[in-house]
This record gives sequence, structure tokens and C-alpha cells, in this order.
Amino acid sequence: MKIILIGIQGSGKSTQGNLLRDKLNTPYLSTGHIFREMAKEKAPLGRYIKEIMNAGFLIPDEKTVEIVSEYLKKPEYERGYILDGFPRTIEQVKKFENGVDKVVYLEVSDKEALWRLSYRNGEDSETRQDETLTAIRKRIELFHRLTEPVLDFYKKKGILVEINGEKAIEDIHKEILEKIK
Ligand code: AMP
Repeated sequence: MKIILIGIQGSGKSTQGNLLRDKLNTPYLSTGHIFREMAKEKAPLGRYIKEIMNAGFLIPDEKTVEIVSEYLKKPEYERGYILDGFPRTIEQVKKFENGVDKVVYLEVSDKEALWRLSYRNGEDSETRQDETLTAIRKRIELFHRLTEPVLDFYKKKGILVEINGEKAIEDIHKEILEKIK
């Protein structure tokens, strides 16, 4: 099964993605993670990605689709995957040629996401370099402007599953499992 996870930063995508991976025995991958790994490279592409990420902007569509499509060619993703963070724009949807079964939207308010992220950074010693308040606000703004049309697209296709992401982790997990059946 091919599942896409969409939600603003702090909506719990990676938490739910990892739970789904274990439950469905399906590999999980996140474009944010892929790009953070690439940003560690000292080569020009790595530095370029790092700069864009730290500012809270999106990596250009063409580059993103190329990288994700290349990743999904790996044999471990042949039978399905749980993909977190992609597609994030209508351009990415159009250029992405891999069939999708369900798109799970984890809905949390901007306020809740901001609160969770400031808590995460306060508690977590591995504070992410791209999680400054300015970058987070930029990402939220881009989500409303660029990613909400993606949700409409999948809704019209009849494969969007909308989940209230402000409930307890275990309840959200159960609801997702029920709705993707
Ligand atoms: P995330 O961990 O999903 O919040 O992603 C962190 C950062 O990686 C984003 O702010 C973007 O700079 C980049 N990124 C992740 N996924 C995408 C995507 N689908 N398109 C463009 N940029 C992305």
C-alpha cells in the first residue's frame, strides 16, 4: 500500500509514520529526513539545500521530484511505502508518477503546531538547525498557500483521509488504521 502523510510541521507525521511502519510492516521515508542528510554534505548541492531548509523554504519542485522518484525505485519500496512530506505542491503532484492509494492529512492548528515545536526544541538536545521560529512560521505560511491545494486535489480524487491530529497519539493511530482500510 502506498500512503502519503501530509501535515504542517509539528502535526505528528513522523510519529504516526513510524507507528504505521511497524503496524503495516511497510517502509517509512520522509523527504525532510532525506534533505537533512543531503544538507550535511559539504558539496555545493548540500550547501544549497541547507540554506533553503534553514530559511524555511521549499526545495525546488523539479529537484525534489527527481530525488524522491530516484529513492522510490529502490527494491524495498516496490510493494509500498509510507511517504512523509511529499508531495507538497501541485507541481510535485503533477510530476510525480507513482500511484498513491491513500493520503492521510493530520490536521492541527497553527497555534498547536507552534506550541509543540517550541516544546520539542526546549526539551530535545538535538535541536534542529532548521527549526528557528522564523523558519517555522515561513513553513506554516507555505503550507497554507502551496500544500492546501494538494489536499483539495486528493480530496477530489476521493483518496484523502482527514484526521484530527490534536488527539492522543494512540487514538490517532487507530483512526488512521480504520480509515485507510
Ligand atoms: P520536514 O521535515 O518535512 O518539515 O521538511 C524539512 C524541510 O525539507 C522543508 O522545510 C523543505 O525545505 C524540505 N522539504 C521536505 N519535503 C519537501 C518537499 N516535498 N518539497 C520541497 N521541499 C521539501
